[in-house]
Amino acid sequence: MTDPVTLRDLDREGRLLWYYCAGCCHEVEVPPLSLGLAAEVAVPDVATRLKCSRCGGREITTRPQLHLQPLAVLRARYRQNGRC
Ligand SMILES: [Zn+2]
Repeated sequence: MTDPVTLRDLDREGRLLWYYCAGCCHEVEVPPLSLGLAAEVAVPDVATRLKCSRCGGREITTRPQLHLQPLAVLRARYRQNGRC
């Protein structure tokens, strides 16, 4: 196990944070430090602090934007679990 990736790690690597709402299928890629959260917050924990900007739902999944895992792959995976 490695330490969880934090928002600061993403920022330093020039990656975006991807999040997905299972309630309304809203998905966004945002600059990691644009959410107003502390840079030390681990990416999985961000999900517990976010509300969907569209529907206000809290069924949020967060992942680092992965170079090796295109957004389409993530989208397909979470569509299976969600209601979308
Ligand atoms: Zn939503």
